[in-house]
Amino acid sequence: MSSARKVLAEYIWLDGYQPQGLRSKTKLLEGFKGRLESLPEWSFDGSSTKQADGHDSDCFLKPICFRNDPIRGTPHILVLCEVLNESGEPHDSNTRSILSGSAEKHTDQEAIFGVEQEYTLFDRHTNRPLGWPMDGFPAPQGPYYCGVGADKVFGRALVEEHLRACLAADLDLCGINAEVMPAQWEFQIGPKGAIETADQLWLARWLLYRLGENRSIVASLHPKPIEGDWNGAGGHVNFSTKTMRESGGIDVIKEACEKLGKLHAEHISVYGENNDKRLTGKHETCSIKQFRYGVSDRGASIRIPIFTARDGFGYLEDRRPAANLDPYMVFTAILETVCGNGFDPNIFKDRPH
Ligand code: ADP
Ligand code: MN
Ligand code: MN
Ligand code: MN
Repeated sequence: MSSARKVLAEYIWLDGYQPQGLRSKTKLLEGFKGRLESLPEWSFDGSSTKQADGHDSDCFLKPICFRNDPIRGTPHILVLCEVLNESGEPHDSNTRSILSGSAEKHTDQEAIFGVEQEYTLFDRHTNRPLGWPMDGFPAPQGPYYCGVGADKVFGRALVEEHLRACLAADLDLCGINAEVMPAQWEFQIGPKGAIETADQLWLARWLLYRLGENRSIVASLHPKPIEGDWNGAGGHVNFSTKTMRESGGIDVIKEACEKLGKLHAEHISVYGENNDKRLTGKHETCSIKQFRYGVSDRGASIRIPIFTARDGFGYLEDRRPAANLDPYMVFTAILETVCGNGFDPNIFKDRPH
C-alpha cells in the first residue's frame, strides 16, 4: 500500500473545566510515517473550552503520544495532546507539564504508578444507573461485587468492549471488575512510570466515553453518584519506588506513609472534586478528616496490601483519590511528598478553577 494513504488522527486534549473534560477533533493526515515527531501541531478555539477569551481564542495542541485507534481501525490513530499558549508555554490548564517536571527531578527513584479507575454507568435516556428501576432502588449492596448474572451486573457488554479496545490501543490495562454498587465498574491500569500511566488513564477514559456513545451509556466519574447507602467511586493510586520493591522495602513504605500523613490536607486538596461526599468513613473509606494507614485495611487512607506485608516489600495503595482524579496532579503530590521535600498545592495555583 502506498505511504500516502489517508490517516484519520483523533487529536484528544483536556479542557479548562473543573474537573477537566476530554475534547477531541479529527485531523486528516496524508501518509503518516508512524513517528510522534511527524505529527503536526494543531490549534483549537479555546474560548469554547474555558481555555481562552473570545478575542484571543487560539490554543495550541502538541501531540505527546499516539496509539492505534481501535474504533476506526488501522491505519487510524488516537493522538493525546497537551495544550500550549501562543508563546509555546504550557497553558494554565496543563497539569501534565508540572508532573513532567516533578517526574524528571526524581527519575533516580524509579517510581511507578497504577490506578484503579472506578466509574458508574448511566442510561442516557433515564439518567438512572444501568439496570436500576425507574422508581426506587435495587436490592441493597451485597451480591453485585464481582457478580455474574443479568440480575447482578449491568453494562458488561460495554465494559468488555472497552477492555478489548484498550488492549488493541496498547494501553496497559491489567484488570477489570464489577463493583459493590450495581452499575459501578473498575478498570486497573499500570504499573508504569508517572507520565505513562497518567497519559494512558486519560486515553482509557476517552475510549470509555466514546464507546458509550454507541449504546447511549454515559460513564460518570462522580465520586458519589448516588447518595445514601451506596458505595462511592474512587481512583485508588498504587505507588512504589525502587527501594520499596526491594528486600526490606516495607520500612521505606512505612516512612512514605508517615510523610503522606503529615501533608494529608494538602493532598486532599488535589485528590478530586466532591471527594468529601465519598470519604465519609463508611463504604470502605476513611473519613476525609482523618489519616490512617494499615495492612489490608480498606477503611484506611493508605492500605499496605497483604502481599507487600507478607513479602516485606512491594507497594502502597493511596485510597483517598476520587474517581474524578486528575492523575497528573495526584502523582505530582505523591512524588513531591515521598521522593521530594514535600508537596505544596501552590504548584497548581494557576490552574483554572
Ligand atoms: P485492589 O486489591 O486494591 O482492588 P487491584 O488489583 O484492583 O487492587 O489493583 C492493583 C493496582 O496496583 C493496579 O493498578 C496495578 O497496576 C498496581 N500495582 C501493582 N504492582 C504495583 C507496584 N509494584 N507499584 C505500583 N503499583 C502497582
Ligand atoms: Mn481494585
Ligand atoms: Mn474498587
Ligand atoms: Mn484498591
